[in-house]
Amino acid sequence: MPVTNPSSESAISVTSPFQQRSLRSVWHPCTQMKSHETFPLVPIARGRGAWLYDADDNGYLDAIGSWWVNLFGHANPRINAAINDQLEKVEHVMLAGFTHEPVIALSERLKAITPGDLGHCFYASDGASATEIALKMSFHYWQLTGKPDKTQFVSLQNDYHGETLGALSVTDVAIFKQTYAPLLRPCSHVMTPDWRFADEGEPAEDYALRAADALEAHLAQHHAKTAALIIEPLIQGAMGMGMYHPVYLKRAREICDKYQVHLIADEIAVGFGRTGSMFACEQAGITPDFLCLAKGLSSGYLPISVVLTTDAVYQSFYGDTLAHTFLHSHTHTGNALACRAALAVLDIFEQDDVLAANKAKADCLNNAAAALSSHPKVSNFRNCGMIWAFEVETENLQFSQQFFQAGLKQHLLLRPLGNTVYFMPPYIITRDEIELLVNGTLQILDTVCN
Ligand SMILES: *Cc1c(COP(=O)(O)O)cnc(C)c1O
Repeated sequence: MPVTNPSSESAISVTSPFQQRSLRSVWHPCTQMKSHETFPLVPIARGRGAWLYDADDNGYLDAIGSWWVNLFGHANPRINAAINDQLEKVEHVMLAGFTHEPVIALSERLKAITPGDLGHCFYASDGASATEIALKMSFHYWQLTGKPDKTQFVSLQNDYHGETLGALSVTDVAIFKQTYAPLLRPCSHVMTPDWRFADEGEPAEDYALRAADALEAHLAQHHAKTAALIIEPLIQGAMGMGMYHPVYLKRAREICDKYQVHLIADEIAVGFGRTGSMFACEQAGITPDFLCLAKGLSSGYLPISVVLTTDAVYQSFYGDTLAHTFLHSHTHTGNALACRAALAVLDIFEQDDVLAANKAKADCLNNAAAALSSHPKVSNFRNCGMIWAFEVETENLQFSQQFFQAGLKQHLLLRPLGNTVYFMPPYIITRDEIELLVNGTLQILDTVCN
């Protein structure tokens, strides 16, 4: 077991000078900074495999893949080697007017492994930027093809697409959105297919079809003004890992085709094997008009995102005028180091037959989790590919924070979304680590629920 200091109970104390330095000059994301008067920051010194180690060498099993990005562990030798090799060649060059082998090779391979005729790759550095690119390209396409009234977007209730202003407009997560509402574009959010909201006894598939009918009713009325539907395929991550039946995606594709509305698949969180298939859309046999990828693309190593689009969209921009030009840029677009990291990730998928290996790991975790799924405080225990989630019945308003703290004492990095606990482990997690994860989670539940 790679926990080098199991006798030490918790992370470094609130008053450590190291931590004070962070609090004095770093504004941490998604955090009320005052909370760190009570809850200590965890100072990470190094990582190896599925483990992170703090300054005192306490190990933490990274059971949420460091915010859903890490697929193949920390300090992965193959990804490290690829980046080191690229460092000796060229680290970065602007992509306007220039090109390089890593960006070409990555684009060719993404084209080859994604569904349908997604023929060109447009790069950025983070997920929210990928959302912005897809929204702008869709709108611009309709401007170029004689449908200038198509200026609106629709997304699902409870969807999350990032937090820049355009991405936040199509997001439907109140805690992120409320404060900034006056800055945002209006956007319709249609009924979610998440089966947690189904009627008692209603099968997930029936509920998904009912949600698709609601989408159709919306587009029947509003299609003339609607450029695109943007959705999180199969799993709505930020609103507590809501899962839904693939039939919804199939129907959404048909409905979008019928009403001439683009389908944007935001696979930023679920792409690269999280749902069991390489891309979630494959489970419904559909090709979106835009596919947004980020997070697992570089296994979390370096910031990189990409939007793939169809040949039809690409061709509509191909012309002689400025009006036909997609004048959108991010400074680090196509960064060579990040592209090499992504190529190393794709190599690992191929060399290790990762999707097949993950099926065995998922079975292993599901078997190990019997006591968890039948725990009296646990409901809606669910699994899709390499994601698990369940709700915990609790009146404790501090549940999420207390669970996180109790997790650290069990050497686990878990960060519930409200009262939803989820696992999104790196794919390299071992059987022993799965045991540790499940048993530790049971102990945390006993601590936090009493
Ligand atoms: C994380 C995420 C984003 C935003 O990505 P950032 O890199 O954080 O900007 C967008 N959509 C989904 C589904 C995500 O999970």
